[in-house]
Amino acid sequence: MNLLDLHNLSQKRLRALQSSGIHRPSDLLNFFPRTYIDKSNIQPIRYLAGITEPVTVVGKVIAVDVSGYGHKKRLEVVIQDKTASLKAVYFKGWKYFINQFKKGTWVALYGTAKKYGRFMSMAHPEVDQLGEPDEINKLDTLIPIYPSNKYFSKAYISNKLIEGWIKQILSVMKMTEFLPEQMLKKHHFPERDSAYRLIHTPPDRKKANSALERFKFEEFFLFELSMAKVKQTRFQRAAGIVMEPGHFTKSFFNDVLPFSLTQGQKHALNDIKTDLKSAHQMNRLIQGDVGAGKTVVAIGAMLMALDNGYQAAMMAPTEILAEQHYHTIKEYLEPLGIQFRLITGGQSSKLRQDILTDIEGGSCQIAVGTHAIFQETVKFNELGLVIIDEQHRFGVKQRNEILLKGDHPHLLVMSATPIPRSLAMTIYSDLDISMIKDMPAGRKPIKTAVRSDKERENVYKFVEQSVKNGDQIYVIFPLVEESEVMDLKDATMGFEKLKRRFPDISIDLLHGRMKSEEKETVMERFVEGNTKILVSTTVIEVGVDVPNASIMIIEHAERFGLSQLHQLRGRIGRGNKQSYCILMPGQKLSRPGRYRLKKLVETSDGFEIAEADLKLRGPGDFLGTKQSGLPEFKHADIIEDRLLLEQAKNDAWQIIKTDPDLTSAHLENLKQVFEPYFTEKAEFFGVG
Ligand code: ADP
Ligand code: MG
Repeated sequence: MNLLDLHNLSQKRLRALQSSGIHRPSDLLNFFPRTYIDKSNIQPIRYLAGITEPVTVVGKVIAVDVSGYGHKKRLEVVIQDKTASLKAVYFKGWKYFINQFKKGTWVALYGTAKKYGRFMSMAHPEVDQLGEPDEINKLDTLIPIYPSNKYFSKAYISNKLIEGWIKQILSVMKMTEFLPEQMLKKHHFPERDSAYRLIHTPPDRKKANSALERFKFEEFFLFELSMAKVKQTRFQRAAGIVMEPGHFTKSFFNDVLPFSLTQGQKHALNDIKTDLKSAHQMNRLIQGDVGAGKTVVAIGAMLMALDNGYQAAMMAPTEILAEQHYHTIKEYLEPLGIQFRLITGGQSSKLRQDILTDIEGGSCQIAVGTHAIFQETVKFNELGLVIIDEQHRFGVKQRNEILLKGDHPHLLVMSATPIPRSLAMTIYSDLDISMIKDMPAGRKPIKTAVRSDKERENVYKFVEQSVKNGDQIYVIFPLVEESEVMDLKDATMGFEKLKRRFPDISIDLLHGRMKSEEKETVMERFVEGNTKILVSTTVIEVGVDVPNASIMIIEHAERFGLSQLHQLRGRIGRGNKQSYCILMPGQKLSRPGRYRLKKLVETSDGFEIAEADLKLRGPGDFLGTKQSGLPEFKHADIIEDRLLLEQAKNDAWQIIKTDPDLTSAHLENLKQVFEPYFTEKAEFFGVG
């Protein structure tokens, strides 16, 4: 069957369907109603007064008139049943509707009735023609309402037309089942073919719903099956790299590290040790709130690789953070005689060449940098471990691309964004997770407060006093990508104002548009304590670690997202001093803005904040939209349908564990559907 076999499908309508992504009859079957209307509530016209929900009335057409002029022109139809009469009015599309009504025939109207003057009326009711009044009992009572769009309306594709097409397709096509019978039984799902029928021509809402659940499950299941397959493949890929902690690891933890590890850090390191020894490829996520101390865990892991003669690479999402890791590594590992290099985008080609030679030759043991690390030109001698810091900034796809580099290196990713469980099940379901739940000892909870512009002078007095006491301060301005230039003006002006207000205090400005060397110099001055106040855009949002900085003022705080505020605030409270975060909202505080600030004052629990943020923004925005690599599900919602997601994940694993290549006879259909699905998304899953 072909779309053009459908009744009333002109070329124009065909184009409208194609523009809406519908190319084949099966696409139409997968075009699900957005809701259903229930036409079973039939009422006599006389009793309509006071009924506010839509109803069905059945009557004989007694008058059809076009009245009014110009844009006020409208179609007025009067129908009559045994009890009274009702006027149907159409303002739009009246030329179409006029053909639906012939004087003396019977019709059923569905809509909301309202009294206008003497007359009971309905605006734009749906109409069904009836040969005789009793035919109403033969009509479907639950009507699917399909999503409409501008292409549809231009080509006069009405809901009725779509309904008809889909019925026509269902009368000739049979959809093949691919979920194993056992699975359907277990979840009480209808078979695939009947599920389509239940979605498009439902006998009742409950059945329509169980069909929808089935399709949601199907989407989750194919996705989770892919994730399981990826994980399994990687796991079986005996990296052949068996690593044992040796000289470097021991010297670092025994002699160099100035503090003892927290329980969480020890656990994470142990998990890593076990993975590296296993002869299977490690795929581990370290999740720990901002300030939990993930960097030393990463260093520990890298040293294990080095102890076994392998190179390690560590990637960070921003230059500033890469730079900082470079300095940390320098401080800790230079004494051990370890060779390391920094790779960022802004380096001169001569320097770059030099670094590349070192990495390829193997004399460089650790490469730290931005995503520039994984460009084609960078070739490792023997890469054994890849670390991705602040992984949520990169997304699944990038993470997987990196794994194609080198000879299946071990992978360790780190993230401070506590990912609510349902999200973790999608984007991280190919990873093992270690949580660092505790904070290094001696940390004092950050005090957070909201201060208005009127209180600015008091805030400044506090700043003055704190600088005298030796504290350092961040003043943050928002930088939203779309209005980068304008926001930059905010930060620059704020910087100038502060300089005027505090002529005796050293103040610097940092933002993303500065050259790499400039950024580097500014950060260095702040780290060394020469700068007391750092005015910055959100370039310092992730990872930056200057323990002496204990105060943060966030200007226009209401313009930031909750998780972002939490990340920002995580820049302070890193030492033993009491830290303060002062949120200064702009003039007008919207309700969600106020809620976010309130939440931030109330809690410093990253998990609670993430959950609230996820609720406010939805998964796409929560993870930073497209680049997060979050899979898009057509029918399912990873938050609303998380129970189904969990079931799909369990079922997928059950299959992959026992029959990873889907060779059993009862999985034959599944295999046929899964293989093209997996191939199409191979790049996404990092197996291309
Ligand atoms: P994050 O988890 O946010 O990446 P960092 O690794 O930047 O955190 O660590 C935050 C700060 O805590 C750093 O200054 C680090 O030196 C310090 N730190 C890490 N672990 C400990 C510990 N066990 N005891 C004391 N301080 C620690
Ligand atoms: Mg960090």
